[in-house]
Amino acid sequence: MTKRYDLIVRNARLAGRGGEAADIGVVGGLIAALGDLSDAGAADVFDAGGRLLLPPFAESHVHLDTTLTAGDPVWNESGTLAEGIAIWGARKAGLAKEDVIARAERTIRLYIGHGVLYLRAMVDIGDPKLAALEAVLELQERYRDRIDMQIVAFPQDGIASSPDNEARMAEALRMGADGVSAVPHLEATREEGVLSLRQAFALAERTGAFVHVFCDETDDESSRFLEVCASLALSTGLTSRVAAAHANAAAYYNEAYFQKILGLVKRSGLSIVACPLINSVMQGRYEAYPKGRGITRIKEFHRAGVNVALAHDDIRTPFYPLGTGNPLDAAHMAAHLAHMCGRSELAALIGMITEGGAEAMQLGEAYGYRNGEFRAGTPASFLLFDAEDARDLIGRRPAPRYVFRRGRVVAETVPAVASLRDDWSAERLEEL
Ligand SMILES: [Zn+2]
Repeated sequence: MTKRYDLIVRNARLAGRGGEAADIGVVGGLIAALGDLSDAGAADVFDAGGRLLLPPFAESHVHLDTTLTAGDPVWNESGTLAEGIAIWGARKAGLAKEDVIARAERTIRLYIGHGVLYLRAMVDIGDPKLAALEAVLELQERYRDRIDMQIVAFPQDGIASSPDNEARMAEALRMGADGVSAVPHLEATREEGVLSLRQAFALAERTGAFVHVFCDETDDESSRFLEVCASLALSTGLTSRVAAAHANAAAYYNEAYFQKILGLVKRSGLSIVACPLINSVMQGRYEAYPKGRGITRIKEFHRAGVNVALAHDDIRTPFYPLGTGNPLDAAHMAAHLAHMCGRSELAALIGMITEGGAEAMQLGEAYGYRNGEFRAGTPASFLLFDAEDARDLIGRRPAPRYVFRRGRVVAETVPAVASLRDDWSAERLEEL
């Protein structure tokens, strides 16, 4: 007897297995089987047309409160962090919930169109009214059927230097936030930076929250908070529930110290979340030539077995005026900044916006895809691309042709078509 599925997606090519063809059988929104299902029947059949099959993208670091405010009310003309902070500081003083909802919702929709079905949102909790947090919590609920969102309570102005923020992070967790944060390199002293980390980790220990630290986002080689994060990840037992974002100072550590850090970070189980787009323009500002490359040492962390995620981060904010919400843009920038253009290195970068992001977010079985393989019993959420392989994806950065979530198409993008004036024949732009 032939097995019947709710849905069979026929003739996809598995990116994790070098383009091997396969069908996917779906029952109840979960992957029931993967392989040659040509003898099986289904209530519904979808022809993937030989398109490349990838797991959904997992975006592990984006700010949903600042998103889409570039130029509103003024542009950051110097492009510096200082001018960005001044502009955002004035803009956020009267931040209204409706304003955040309108911009964050557009951003979430952009992300879904680009195949992001798992998102970790940073929300500044410096505002006593917590208006931005309320807005993002509302969207988390509204979009529950289309995207899984985690929310990190982010104390932009520090914890030691802005003491109300500790209580406000606790309040944010009670309201429904999933993680806490700290910005140790912006605290007044090294000691206060360490104190702020202890406060964040203690809160996470008490509540079961994630820890997602803005860690060493500076070119100062004496900024050594990654070692504190790793040490606290070990001593608290929070291990892989800890993520250290940015970690730019690591690119400036002397080699003997960096090798020590590599071992410590590996043992701690924490994830490194690199944000190559914004850091490519924010770092190196104080340097004469030659300038650093604005990226943490993702190649070395990855080779040492540390989980590395790449995140898009800011989308059109006073800190970064560009951005599309396409994780492939982050991978593209990382390929350049981290010197990772080898064919297997490009495949590894795709891993960092899929499995790497999922591990940083600790999605576990909710994500399902692991070591380049889809697994039965996990959500039938995946992307179909008009692309050859990882190199082609990063090179052209197309939106997925189809985005499936739990066995249902939630987004599709029609490819751009160009007509050249010599004969007016229409062709897909990327194939010209
Ligand atoms: Zn950020």
